[in-house]
Amino acid sequence: MSTPPFESCDVLIVGGGPAGSTCARALCRAGLDVVVMDRQEFPRDKVCAGWITPSVINLLELDVEDYRQGRVFQPITSFLTGIDGGPQVATIYDSEVSFGIRRCEFDNYLLRRSGVRLVLGEALDSMRRSGRGWVVNDHVETPLVIGAGGHFCPVARHLGARPGRGEIAVAAQEIEFELDAGQRHTCGIQPQMPELFFCDDMKGYGWCFRKGNFLNVGLGREGGHQLSRHVQAFRASLIARGKIPPGTPADFHGHAYLLYSSARRAVVDNGALLIGDAAGLAYPQSGEGIRPAIESALMAAQIVQSAAGDYRHARLAPYQDRLGARYGLREAPASQGLLPERFKMAVAGWLLRSRWFARHVVLDRWFLHKHDKPLVTPSA
Ligand SMILES: Cc1cc2nc3c(=O)[nH]c(=O)nc-3n(C[C@H](O)[C@H](O)[C@H](O)COP(=O)(O)OP(=O)(O)OC[C@H]3O[C@@H](n4cnc5c(N)ncnc54)[C@H](O)[C@@H]3O)c2cc1C
Repeated sequence: MSTPPFESCDVLIVGGGPAGSTCARALCRAGLDVVVMDRQEFPRDKVCAGWITPSVINLLELDVEDYRQGRVFQPITSFLTGIDGGPQVATIYDSEVSFGIRRCEFDNYLLRRSGVRLVLGEALDSMRRSGRGWVVNDHVETPLVIGAGGHFCPVARHLGARPGRGEIAVAAQEIEFELDAGQRHTCGIQPQMPELFFCDDMKGYGWCFRKGNFLNVGLGREGGHQLSRHVQAFRASLIARGKIPPGTPADFHGHAYLLYSSARRAVVDNGALLIGDAAGLAYPQSGEGIRPAIESALMAAQIVQSAAGDYRHARLAPYQDRLGARYGLREAPASQGLLPERFKMAVAGWLLRSRWFARHVVLDRWFLHKHDKPLVTPSA
């Protein structure tokens, strides 16, 4: 095998998901020479329901008309929510409150749009300190490495993270597949109306989400104990109720992520910082991670620009402060896990039957973050 040519850059971003591509674009626009390295070739799949809110579109300055040319872009105007197996409550909005995308399309679009040099199909295998900062994989030299490699990010490991050891992660499994003509008629899920099914112990929830001709079904739980058993029982019950077609594949794909409230990863070091899932930023109540991935990428890009080439820990530390200001202090007695602790009580099933609670608390507050102030930062 030939050795790749030695190259240098101002910033190396490891991971080309939404966090990596957003940060790359912002830094490129600021005039920095950026390389994104990803172990996969793009387009690639990412285990994800692919639900994004209007805030994500605004943060990304997404040209929706351009994006939807040949790609799935499913408007969402309503939801069905309830305890799995119990009655469902319909919440209908006057306008579009979310959108469904396919991650293979979305991530590829954003990465190609970033305008930076791409090193795809190469995993970060080694990073060692050098006079100029870092030498990565023995052929890329850079003063700053940004870890955007998701939950198992190798840069996060370098900063001390030990995924799977002592971290309380959410484990989730999902399947996304194209419905054939027959299945489109028998599928009980409406495209504009995703359905959420909370586990009766309130340790997680399942979803059915139809995006155009694609159906996404999944379930996530704190800790992930007996996840496969829960997922297969969920799939069987959805088929029995006529929600999803009998031919829905059973080979669900799994992944994990950290909720902001329970993540304890160091996010800054000399010449290094973490963004997105690598930093453990998903919203505690819903598990939504794309918006915090993009927001953290923009906050990081701003701090990097202010540091003006001096990437010592003290110059990058304001990034950690900005995360705290945006999402709360991690030491705060915030809820741990997918749903607020106080809520995991006998009243949960009763409350979820309330139309008011479903709209104003579950959806507006926990899932749509309608009351959150927009992030103030230079554009993506
Ligand atoms: C089942 C499931 C459903 C979800 N549904 C939603 C949802 O509907 N909406 C939402 O907002 N969030 C959802 N999330 C969370 C969301 O997927 C993540 O928060 C989001 O993908 C984080 O983006 P990221 O850019 O930080 O990391 P990722 O999207 O994980 O990207 C990381 C990239 O790093 C690359 N990489 C990894 N290791 C290396 C290495 N060693 N070297 C080089 N590259 C590497 C990977 O190939 C990948 O491309 C879901 C998560 C799961 C598991």
